[in-house]
Amino acid sequence: MQKIEIHTKSRPSAVYCGEGAFLAAQQFLGENEVFVVTDENVWDIYGEDVEYLFPKAHVCILPAGEKHKNKSSLFRILDEMLAAGLHRSSYVVALGGGVVGDMAGLAAAMYMRGTHLIQIPTTLLAQVDSSVGGKTAIDYKNVKNVLGAFYQPERVYCDPKFLQTLPPREIRCGLGEIIKTGVLDGALGEKILQNADKLTDLDFLRSLVTDCVRFKARVVERDETESSGLRKCLNLGHTTGHALELRYGRRSHGEYVLIGMWLESYIAEGEGVATAEHSAWVRSLVSLAEKKIPAFPNVRECVSNALLDKKNDRAGVVSVVLSKAKGEFEEYALSSEKYAEYLSRLEEGRR
Ligand code: ADP
Ligand code: ZN
Repeated sequence: MQKIEIHTKSRPSAVYCGEGAFLAAQQFLGENEVFVVTDENVWDIYGEDVEYLFPKAHVCILPAGEKHKNKSSLFRILDEMLAAGLHRSSYVVALGGGVVGDMAGLAAAMYMRGTHLIQIPTTLLAQVDSSVGGKTAIDYKNVKNVLGAFYQPERVYCDPKFLQTLPPREIRCGLGEIIKTGVLDGALGEKILQNADKLTDLDFLRSLVTDCVRFKARVVERDETESSGLRKCLNLGHTTGHALELRYGRRSHGEYVLIGMWLESYIAEGEGVATAEHSAWVRSLVSLAEKKIPAFPNVRECVSNALLDKKNDRAGVVSVVLSKAKGEFEEYALSSEKYAEYLSRLEEGRR
C-alpha cells in the first residue's frame, strides 16, 4: 500500500492506494462512531463486509446513480445523521462511487459545520479523481455540481479489490479521467500509450490509480480552491463534456469527457493554442478508450449548457481549458457563435 500526502491549507489529507486499503480504513477508525453512506448497488455487493468490519456503524443506503445526486438525497443523509445523534467528532465514511462521495462529503461539511470525513472510493473514476481533492456537491436545477463546498477528507482509501466487481462501462468511465490526467502529465500519457493493450488489466489500472492520485495531489496542494487557476487544468474536456452530458445524458461522465477532449483538441488547434501534432497526440490518447466518436444531432443546442459552466465569468462567452503541449494548458475564451461552429463537428462524429 502506498501513502500519498496532500498538504493543503485547510487540512492535511492522506491517500492510501493498494491492496488492504479497506482494512486499513477499519483499523484507522477503530472505536470511533462511524456513519457509512453508500448506495444500493455497492451495499448489495459489499454490505456484508461493512457489517463485519464496522458492526456498530450507522448505515445510510441511497438509491444509485447521478440522477439521485440531488437535494432530497442530501437531506436524507442529513436527517439520518441527526437521527443517529452524530457529533462533530463522528466519522462520515463515503463508500461508493463519485455520486456517494460528493453527497456524503457535502453532508459532512454541513453537519454541525463539519464532521470528520473518510472517502473509500469504489469506482475507478472516484479512485482516480473525485474522491481526492475535497470537492463536494449536488446537482440542482439542471446545473451540475452547482451547490457544494471544498471539504478535504482526512483520509482516502483506494482499494483495488473494489475494481473487480465494476461493470466494463464503469471502467471506461474511469479511463476518461485517467486519459485526461495523461494529457496533462506527458509522462503518464506516454505510459498509457505504450501500454494501450493493458487498459482493462486490473494490475495496470491499479498502477494508474496511484499515478493519477499523485498528479492530482500536487495540483490540489498548489491550488486547493481553484483560485490561482492551476486546478482548472483538471477541467480539461469538461466544458464540452458537461454540456453534452446535460443535453444527452445516456453515456457515462468519463465518456463525455473523452468526447469533450476530442472536440476541444480541434479548438486548440484551430485557435492556434496547440500545434496540429500535439492535438493529434491528444486524440490518439482519447481513441484508446473512445474508438468512435458518436454523432450528436442538433449539437449546437448545447451551447446554452456550455454558457452555464462555472468557469465562465463573462456573459456570452464560453471558457474552455485547452491542452497546449504535454504538461501545459491554457484557459481560453470563445464567443458562443465560434464555439457553436466547432461543436458542429460533432454532428457527424467520427466513425
Ligand atoms: P461515478 O463513480 O462514475 O461517479 P457512481 O457513483 O454513480 O459514479 O457509480 C457508478 C455505478 O457503479 C453506480 O450504479 C454504483 O452503484 C456502481 N458501483 C460503485 N462501485 C461499484 C463496485 N465496486 N462494483 C460494482 N458496482 C459499483
Ligand atoms: Zn470529471
